[in-house]
Amino acid sequence: MKVTIARTAGFCMGVRRAVEMALDASNKNQVPIYTYGPLIHNPQVLSILAEKGITVLEEIPESGEGIVIIRAHGVPPQDRQALIDAGFQVIDATCPRVIKVQSIIAKHARDGYASIIIGDREHPEVKGLLGYAGNQGYIADSVEALDRLPDFEKAIIVAQTTQNTAFFNRVRNRVNQNHPHYKIYATICDSTEKRQAEVKALAQSVDAIVVVGGSDSGNTRRLYEIAALTGKPTQHIETENELDIRQLENFRHIGITAGASTPNWIIKRVYRALEKQLVQKGRIFRRWAYLVQRYLLLSNIYLAIGAGCLAYAATELLGIPATAPDVLIAALYILCMHTFNNLIDISSDRYSDPDRATFYQNNRSWLSALTLGAGAGVLILAYSRGLLFFILLFFMGLMGVVYNFSLVPKRVGIRRKSKIRDIPGSKTVLVGLAWGIVTSLLPALHHAGGIQANAVGVFFWIFCLVFVQTAFFDIMDMQGSRIVGKETIPILLGENRTMRLLKILAGSMAVLIWIASALGFVALSGLFIGICPLMMMIFLYFHEHGEFSPGFRQNFLMESHFIFAGLLALMGSLIFI
Ligand code: SF4
Repeated sequence: MKVTIARTAGFCMGVRRAVEMALDASNKNQVPIYTYGPLIHNPQVLSILAEKGITVLEEIPESGEGIVIIRAHGVPPQDRQALIDAGFQVIDATCPRVIKVQSIIAKHARDGYASIIIGDREHPEVKGLLGYAGNQGYIADSVEALDRLPDFEKAIIVAQTTQNTAFFNRVRNRVNQNHPHYKIYATICDSTEKRQAEVKALAQSVDAIVVVGGSDSGNTRRLYEIAALTGKPTQHIETENELDIRQLENFRHIGITAGASTPNWIIKRVYRALEKQLVQKGRIFRRWAYLVQRYLLLSNIYLAIGAGCLAYAATELLGIPATAPDVLIAALYILCMHTFNNLIDISSDRYSDPDRATFYQNNRSWLSALTLGAGAGVLILAYSRGLLFFILLFFMGLMGVVYNFSLVPKRVGIRRKSKIRDIPGSKTVLVGLAWGIVTSLLPALHHAGGIQANAVGVFFWIFCLVFVQTAFFDIMDMQGSRIVGKETIPILLGENRTMRLLKILAGSMAVLIWIASALGFVALSGLFIGICPLMMMIFLYFHEHGEFSPGFRQNFLMESHFIFAGLLALMGSLIFI
């Protein structure tokens, strides 16, 4: 059984931008925040915005205070001015593609042109566009309505950005025939077109289609209609709870698409629910393999094995003996810190990784015991190596705990930006530093009696690898991070720039370790170990090209890189003995 998610599924650029602007405004300001009309047609997103205190302003009052966000559809300029006159601060989240149409209309209105908007007269975008046409604005929602309009001396034709292309082409032909002097602007947004074309193509390669999105969302309903017209069994659902698994369980390949107002985390939940349900109906071996994989990943045991492997690879690179305590200290420290953070991060995981949130909610007791056991194990092992190691690891553990708690007492009244985790990008950097220290610097300190230049080099190399992995998962969690106000690296730099940075870092780490090995700065095993960052770079490339869906397989593959590094180190040690 295979599940494929359409590449165009989920927020379009304009909707994503509007939601991000609303969430950023809420995270950065402590004044009332409104959206002028519902921000998008998705009840789950609207209820999250309401939870964040962002409410809907239906009418413009005579006076008011706070911030009003103008949604992606835009508004007439008169409404914008009325909001400012009422005393609101206005944040304009109008989609740039809609702004372009507004500008075309405004410019021609100034030059005395009539503006004919091809669109739905009740749609907020069309109402907004009309406001830019002065008293020379007209709406045509059919060819007949167009024919009923007077013959203008000067006129332009524009389309609502989500208009049906076939209909607009009919209009264009009629205008060319009857009013060849009219200027025609093709202003349909290609995002809608691509989404509809993809669902048609997807239907050819799958046995059934699930369309995810609000029941009030027009573009989601159109996707459902297009998919259903192909003859493939099609379900329109708002959340994973509405999935009709019985209808889908006998199909070999299922496609998922989603409307422009459906957030990633809902698509992810649907994907994971399908994956889980369908695996449960599969063969016993597959069921067990899935369950083991899921437990290892969610409990961070797989990550801890990776940390142990990375510690082993570091000792190989440094040419120092690899002992069980080196590997165990790294593995247990990572297990303790990551599980602890997951336990207290359930609220943000609700959006970014809903399955993890449920897992931690349901298994709180034994996961807490696991965290305590791993922490105690690290301290015992550290103590066996001397007081310095004990103090170092105790301090690192303390930092991991303090990271999540406010450093400012409640009575001071400053609750925002009072934790270390509130420092933008801190998580990715601190995770990389902690991994680097436990996997390379501590073994070097113990076996070499000090930290030499090559140990610093290996520490930096591991820091970069862990940075790539952590920032990749941050990209996956971007929408959830925004909801809870976390400023991760991808939120600071943007998704595309972060992805570019990660690919460059991974590629550079491969080249650097090969050069360092060839020059004798680290052991020759580095020639093998360098394949690990190269694999990471290839993984990122395939992820960018839509090869991985947001399921356990993707996380499993990413987390396998460090285990792979340990295996490569072993291979190197056997060959370059
Ligand atoms: S569909 Fe296109 S025009 Fe409309 S909000 Fe999305 S990106 Fe902007």
